[in-house]
Amino acid sequence: MARLPAVFVSHGSPMLALGGGDTGAAWRGLSAGLPRPRAVVVASAHWLTSAPAVGAAPQPETIHDFGGFPDPLFQIQYPAPGEPAVARRAAELLAAAGFEVHGVERGLDHGVWVPLREFYPQADVPVVPLALQPRLGPEHHYRLGRALQALRAEDVLVLGSGSLTHNLHEVRFEESGEVAPYVAEFQHWFAERLAEGDIEALLDYRRRAPQAARAHPTEEHLLPLFVALGAAGEGSVADRRFGGVTHEVLAMDVYQFTEPAMATAMA
Ligand code: ZN
Repeated sequence: MARLPAVFVSHGSPMLALGGGDTGAAWRGLSAGLPRPRAVVVASAHWLTSAPAVGAAPQPETIHDFGGFPDPLFQIQYPAPGEPAVARRAAELLAAAGFEVHGVERGLDHGVWVPLREFYPQADVPVVPLALQPRLGPEHHYRLGRALQALRAEDVLVLGSGSLTHNLHEVRFEESGEVAPYVAEFQHWFAERLAEGDIEALLDYRRRAPQAARAHPTEEHLLPLFVALGAAGEGSVADRRFGGVTHEVLAMDVYQFTEPAMATAMA
């Protein structure tokens, strides 16, 4: 059976839930091109723990984990069911790879539901959240993804949800349409390394990528990319589906990672 690709999305500001613009269109376009998965495992930058964990709630609640935004955002519900069997399977795979992993009841944070409302507007694809460990860096998250690779052959979509750049101190709330030069430079470096499949350089981005510390004062929003990259496996082809920038500094890159044979078939 064909394996599903692994995907990374930049989820941007929660305001995208009230009008997704070009980013929302890119998410819809990507999901429309994929077979419908049995479930989606989402590694969100907004679920941070000290040890690996998967969300096993049968009916996860919608979490409004932000403040200072308009009321309509707090009214949004994303009532997708959970899928405890997939959560157990993910936990088994992680344990087999040597991780100590916890199954917990966890709702869906905005890193999960903002993009999934565009991917699956009917909220009818079950969702299994996966926690990130912000102190453990890119390689740990790449290994988490690798451990979950088998899920892709079991009709499960592995989705990382973060942001290709994420310096909230520099966010401009008015949309000027401008792009801060360092953001473009950082995006370009990632696009090239991903196109080359240079995993070693990517895992060492903090030292090698231009302006890495400015692009990510803390790195939790980039870690979901490494989960997706790991789940995609060696030799996967990175298809950059979107490269827009919002608020001058939030790079909204979307990547689909596909096996070489599948990339040819879909071309
Ligand atoms: Zn975020």
